[in-house]
Amino acid sequence: NYYIVETNSVILCTGAREKYLSFKNNHLPGIFGAGAFQTLLNRDLIKGSSKIFIVGAGNVGLIAAYHALQAGIEVVGIADVLPKQSGYKVHLDKIKRYGVPVYFSHSVIEAQGEERVNAVKIAPVDKDFKPDYNKIITFSIDTLLIAVGLAENNEMEDSLKRSSIQLYKAGDANEIAEASSAMFSGKLAALRLIKNLNKSLVFEDSLFEKEKVLKLPGGKVFDPDEIRQKQNFSGEVYPSIFCYQQIPCNPCVTSCPAHAIKIDGDPIYDLPLYQTGCTGCAKCVLTCPALAITLVDKRKRKDNKVMVTFPFEFLDKFLPVDEYQLTDIDGNIIGTGEFAGIKHFLKDKRSLISLYVDEKIANLAAGFRLPLQNMVIEGNYVRDSSNILKNSLNNNSSNLSIENTNNDPSFVCICERVKVEDVKEIIRLGIKDINFIKAATRLSMGACGGKTCSTTITSILREEGINKNVVEPNKPRPLIVEVPFKYFAGNKVKLNFDNINSKKKEKD
Ligand code: SF4
Ligand code: SF4
Repeated sequence: NYYIVETNSVILCTGAREKYLSFKNNHLPGIFGAGAFQTLLNRDLIKGSSKIFIVGAGNVGLIAAYHALQAGIEVVGIADVLPKQSGYKVHLDKIKRYGVPVYFSHSVIEAQGEERVNAVKIAPVDKDFKPDYNKIITFSIDTLLIAVGLAENNEMEDSLKRSSIQLYKAGDANEIAEASSAMFSGKLAALRLIKNLNKSLVFEDSLFEKEKVLKLPGGKVFDPDEIRQKQNFSGEVYPSIFCYQQIPCNPCVTSCPAHAIKIDGDPIYDLPLYQTGCTGCAKCVLTCPALAITLVDKRKRKDNKVMVTFPFEFLDKFLPVDEYQLTDIDGNIIGTGEFAGIKHFLKDKRSLISLYVDEKIANLAAGFRLPLQNMVIEGNYVRDSSNILKNSLNNNSSNLSIENTNNDPSFVCICERVKVEDVKEIIRLGIKDINFIKAATRLSMGACGGKTCSTTITSILREEGINKNVVEPNKPRPLIVEVPFKYFAGNKVKLNFDNINSKKKEKD
């Protein structure tokens, strides 16, 4: 069943899908996208993991780690092949403070498990991303999240462009960016459509300027010491701001009733600096989405300690029972804090925890360790890295491909179980047409309609030295819609067109 809707304008806001990776046993249950994990957790309230590992330190991976902690799931680690995070530094700092280990310049080598993934192996990589198999680390996990980027869901765009329909795009379908940018681009797409209907409408240029700024990725990371020199740490009460990267964000500025925080430079993108005049209202601590502000209040003292207030977005049961281990911005322990009080702000979905902290470290205390991560920090999930794979690699030539060391497969198309090696064999015959590979292997003919393998096949072609300009792209299948999980749980799908039609008749 379908409807034909007559229109002359469409706003395409079909979002994005997650990119996937090819590695050994990447088909095992328990391995899936970090975005899907967040949907399960945050929308469907399903907690199907107890200890996870994440591949990719972009914003999706970093935020997935944070949401996992909030749900009481241990985060065994995050690995990224790059030497630093591609997500915002404030998101990275936040999870490091809670005790999540981050492995930069590391690549996932393989997953292990029978019924479900139970371990992941990672290895350090050199500047050409070549793994060092002598230094494999194996972690016990029950879920492996892939967070290696998003690709626009824009299959419909081509057919719309061929029609006379006026096309507007919004959100990730337009360009992959942060949620605030996606929401703003939706408003602008609607405004552009309205303007097209009513040419006399005039919009301020500042709207389009804001659109540009919100789309900006994280910019320069400044030296914290240099920025802290510019912050004002004098007075009896002031915010300590741990925000050292250009990012499109400024609620700390707009929420301060005393106008005490200013941005030096672009009003959204540059770094916030505390000037003077703080009244200690803690609104900035409550508002900063990255939990990057604490409030130091020297008016409230106990012995040689002063009160420092920290933002906290967890249930109270996750708080330390005895001692609060204070950390600096990088997650290093710098001392302890003594509980002074807690206030809950249900509307803000956040609490403020006040601790008495040694005055000498009050400005540097960016957060405190989460007891949930104790087992991870103590290394309880690191398995012995000596294994058959490593031994076999050590005993052979450096040309030995890890794909050939045992029979565990690496899949390019998970839906149709198409192996990387089978596709490579076809490519090596000189085939550069993805539709041919599809016909020969069923690549992209599964349930996802080629959405997952469209990115993995690209990397395989690149690995095989094929220039993307000579590749004949896949002919995509028509779009399908997302199916709510309740239907898999037994709820019958009821397509009540009669109801819709009768409503339409009433309206007519
Ligand atoms: S505590 Fe209140 S007054 Fe002080 S900087 Fe933050 S928002 Fe402004
Ligand atoms: S609210 Fe301010 S301190 Fe917090 S992340 Fe945004 S710019 Fe940085």
